[in-house]
Amino acid sequence: MKQHETKPAKRLSLAELKAKAKRQVLPTDQPPEGATSPDAKPIITFNERRKGKAPSHLADLDMAGRKELLTAYGLPAFRADQISRHYFGRQVVDPAQMPDLPAQMHEKISETFFPTLITDVRSLKADKGRTIKTVWELFDQTRVESVLMGYPGRATLCVSSQAGCGMACPFCATGQMGLTRNLSTGEIIEQVRAAITTVAEGGLGEENQRLTNIVFMGMGEPLVNYRAVVQALHRICDPVPEGFGMSARNITVSTVGLVPSIYKLAEEGLPVTLAVSLHAPDDELRDDLIPVNSRWKVKELLDAAYHYYEVTKRRVSIEYALIKDMNDHVWRAQLLADELNRRGSGWAHVNPIPLNPTPESIWTASTPAAQRAFVEKLRECGITTTIRDTRGSDIDGACGQLATEVNRNQAAARRANVRHVQ
Ligand code: SF4
Repeated sequence: MKQHETKPAKRLSLAELKAKAKRQVLPTDQPPEGATSPDAKPIITFNERRKGKAPSHLADLDMAGRKELLTAYGLPAFRADQISRHYFGRQVVDPAQMPDLPAQMHEKISETFFPTLITDVRSLKADKGRTIKTVWELFDQTRVESVLMGYPGRATLCVSSQAGCGMACPFCATGQMGLTRNLSTGEIIEQVRAAITTVAEGGLGEENQRLTNIVFMGMGEPLVNYRAVVQALHRICDPVPEGFGMSARNITVSTVGLVPSIYKLAEEGLPVTLAVSLHAPDDELRDDLIPVNSRWKVKELLDAAYHYYEVTKRRVSIEYALIKDMNDHVWRAQLLADELNRRGSGWAHVNPIPLNPTPESIWTASTPAAQRAFVEKLRECGITTTIRDTRGSDIDGACGQLATEVNRNQAAARRANVRHVQ
């Protein structure tokens, strides 16, 4: 080697990187977000607390079901096509606004197909009007939310699939509420219809006139409410008059890791994007961070995600919230890259998500240097990585997967009380 040439930097092994890590904050170092007692433990549940069923709606049924229902009421089956075109093609729910329907049918059609499923109780705007968060009240007074986000050339809706959530992630206030109930297909689709209308009416400003993307990242774990969510995916993607006719490529279903349901989803013939909320590549940490990991481990989850990619040819998104000194170590970036590369190349895309700085909490932002080092390590290992935009954090949280931001101040106050009681 000539004198002026510098030696290439030695690539450290995983063990060496691990030995260099300075600090390890654990999810158990603090009671879960929104916990009412200091020793609260996350309890996973798949069971709904409330069994009430939303009134039946046009969007709950496929075309055959709509025709059947009309026939059962003594109405001509061909009206199903007309009514569906008004609903999915024009987002109209008032039969009086459907000119091809005889007036004497309006009342029956209205009560059969279009009960009010969601009512806007509060809408908040942020990001100069490019983000709108809406709180919806359902027929049984439960509340869920959806978030609309406008970007240059696209408008994305984040929908809720459950009221509450049974996955008990300790960083998420929704998770501590437990699962109230699954939403019906109609309740999910009505969030979509409302968003299409809002965007078309210029609610996100002039440059966004069409809803282009939908992410199932609101309240709830979509794959727990599997049947209603898959039906909703059909209504979203099937062409008018069956559904809204949106591109499956622009729809993302997010999961914390219900492995059997990922295999099932791969067989549905709906090439939607799968997003895995991973947040840790090692079981030791993930068992505490995402409690469902105690049932399905990281390797099983990544195997299922890879299978999903192989069947659908849709690149999987790996969501990774960078949490200071908890999961943002370079060795974890290396381990994540190793786990992804071991299964194949180019099949997954990692989205590190920066948290807001919250000094009083363990759920706080990684330092910019740690974020950079984490991303650089992934890229050095050939993993495509894009830092995700977190919209709407100034209006009580973005999408529910990281609802930590929700009620942050109240949570801090509760923690203060918890410590006080101790
Ligand atoms: S992060 Fe998502 S899956 Fe976990 S508790 Fe919250 S809403 Fe449920």
